[in-house]
Amino acid sequence: MSGTSALPGVRVAVVGSGPAGAFAAAQLLATPGAAIEVHVFDRLPTPWGLVRAGVAPDHPKIKSVTRVFERNALLPGFHLHGNVHVGRDVSHDELVGHFHAVLYATGAPDDRRLGVPGEELAGSHSATEFVGWYNGHPDVAGAHFDLSARRAVVVGNGNVALDVVRMLALDTDELARTDIADAALDALAASRVEEIVVLGRRGPADAAFTTPELRELGRIADCEVVVDPADLAADAVGGTGGSFGPRVADNLEVLAEYAARRPAGTRRRIVLRFRVFPVELTGTGRVTGVRLGHNELVGPAGGPSVPVPTGRLSVVDAGLVLRSIGYVGRAVPGVPFDAATGRIDNVRGRVRDPVSGTPLPGVYTAGWIKRGPSGVIGTNKKCAQETVSLLVEDLVAGRLHGRSPDPAERLLDRLGRRGVEVVSREGWSAIDAHERALGEPLSRPRVKLVHLDALLSRAAAGTGVPAVGEGGSATDD
Ligand code: NAP
Repeated sequence: MSGTSALPGVRVAVVGSGPAGAFAAAQLLATPGAAIEVHVFDRLPTPWGLVRAGVAPDHPKIKSVTRVFERNALLPGFHLHGNVHVGRDVSHDELVGHFHAVLYATGAPDDRRLGVPGEELAGSHSATEFVGWYNGHPDVAGAHFDLSARRAVVVGNGNVALDVVRMLALDTDELARTDIADAALDALAASRVEEIVVLGRRGPADAAFTTPELRELGRIADCEVVVDPADLAADAVGGTGGSFGPRVADNLEVLAEYAARRPAGTRRRIVLRFRVFPVELTGTGRVTGVRLGHNELVGPAGGPSVPVPTGRLSVVDAGLVLRSIGYVGRAVPGVPFDAATGRIDNVRGRVRDPVSGTPLPGVYTAGWIKRGPSGVIGTNKKCAQETVSLLVEDLVAGRLHGRSPDPAERLLDRLGRRGVEVVSREGWSAIDAHERALGEPLSRPRVKLVHLDALLSRAAAGTGVPAVGEGGSATDD
């Protein structure tokens, strides 16, 4: 970026330390000549969002991006304020009062609902909850998943669906070498699930998952993948009228390979079903099955296929249902939010006033809460770059809110008086070092602390600040 050399130092609050927030922080710190101070707030005591709490434990390569984030966190001008819930512990207006600009990168933490009867039965869970559980998210540290039934159903055809399928199908000897939460490892080791049925409401050519993830299913030890060859017929495959892009063509090739395999009598089976959707989760008190509606696919030539119910129904018995049909963003009080799309109201990352349609000076957004829950981690780098470029452009043009903000220390003092135990970068380093040390003798990357009290105690011990919750209900140590 040119033309920034004469800029005075500015202070930016980044809300959310997941990939979009972490990339935005790094890009702000790297702005030539601008001496931008970046204060990253996160509602958890641990940073890096979905890289820690979303990426599957058996995908350590994807998690290695945290090395870059950790390096950036050591740069002068970077400040971490974990365990601060913006919208509850501190308001949007307060942030605006203490920073020249505020950038929201709060992700899409809620799950989309199926909206069918029985969705609330015991044994029916969102993938969000299951993923958080096996990744040690403190919100669901105490969750319980009944893995005693022979069959589980996973609804949805995205990469998150395939992540949860792998977790149910993988041998726990393999998972034991990862940073999976200990409680999940124990529960999965005792799992009696033998068959995992995956439901796609459209055809194989419409599936959102990517080919490497689809291939991985076929490499799981003592597990076979079952595909009905009829689903690959021209009138069933879906897609855009026979002309498929490279991802879809590769997916179809892998699915055809699975469809051609003979039954192998393995310990576990993954059954990929298409053109079916849940109309009801059956059971009294707890799930015993899923009533399926069957679809046919129609659609304009060259356009996406549209599922149309044929009226045919069938039932698949199952004791566990995981709904993996996408995430939804959550509003931050005081920040314009478009409930229809589940995103902060914005144009290319500039948050806008919903009434006038004009940008709110000094308020920005990046990542899933800006554009919706799509793309891989690297997609957020580009997304954050677009936002940061506009922020710097506004800074150069004098278009930020123009007031002289109060010192950030004053806000931190106020948080302290409210009883918020803010976790600094040093506090996070203490958690990180402790988790790694626990993992080392077990040849694991880390053993995660999953209870909030334990995380806060460890952070406090590392910084010499007594934790309010010390000696509470922590059970991790
Ligand atoms: P996604 O890719 O948007 O997939 C959502 C799936 O749910 C689609 O198959 C969709 O089908 C289906 N669905 C939506 N509403 C439904 C309904 N009412 N009934 C039945 N099915 C329904 O979302 P995601 O799997 O949550 O993933 C989010 C993002 O994270 C994606 O970009 C994904 O690639 C990424 N991710 C990547 C990795 C990786 O790289 N390994 C791992 C995890 C996640 P329709 O197409 O018919 O709507």
